[in-house]
Amino acid sequence: MILHLPGELSIATLVLGPLLTNTYVLVHHPARRAARDAPAGPTPAGPTCWLVDPGLEPEPLLDYLRHKQLQPQRVLLTHCHGDHIGGLSAVKELWPEAIVGAPLAEADWLTDPARNLSLPFGMHVVAPEADETFQAGEELQMGGLTWEILDTAGHSPGGVSFYCRRCGVVLTGDALFADSIGRSDIPEADGEKLLRNIRRSLLALPESTRVLPGHGPPTTIGEERTSNPFL
Ligand SMILES: [Zn+2]
Repeated sequence: MILHLPGELSIATLVLGPLLTNTYVLVHHPARRAARDAPAGPTPAGPTCWLVDPGLEPEPLLDYLRHKQLQPQRVLLTHCHGDHIGGLSAVKELWPEAIVGAPLAEADWLTDPARNLSLPFGMHVVAPEADETFQAGEELQMGGLTWEILDTAGHSPGGVSFYCRRCGVVLTGDALFADSIGRSDIPEADGEKLLRNIRRSLLALPESTRVLPGHGPPTTIGEERTSNPFL
């Protein structure tokens, strides 16, 4: 599925691995209009490609990127559970220049299969270390687009969501799903904190905001405000 959004952003969804993790490929084409308006001059830069949460068994993701001739510049993690970082090693191997960004509070989980919970699920996920860390309240620039980092911790202690106001989209990881919320019956989770952060950081967004969660189908803030049984 490819979603085309305002701000010349498109987001492709790939469902990866045994836990059906949504991995998102964000592509921003800021050069399209500039190229049309400027017949002379240097060739415009190619699209900017970012990945969010490369999941386990990432071959379909790698195939997709190669087929589309996309080179990920950045890999963002909503949180560092094994099913959201399982594809990181393969991505880094193919595109070593990609900058991996992880929430500060969980960055050391990348190399720790016990804390990233892959071990309890019978797996052994060890990912490369993060190149950068971030915290809620910070912003990331993607060409002309600003991504706000929202505090949606609770399912995990450093969990964040990535929100682009101009594009009207938020990537919520395992905090908010269509008609559900993230698990809090797992180590280091805090259910009350999760609910508080969902209300404060996500439900406060415009109703039309598209929600792209870490598992399951997309939804909107308006739909979850009215019909999510957990809220
Ligand atoms: Zn998770």
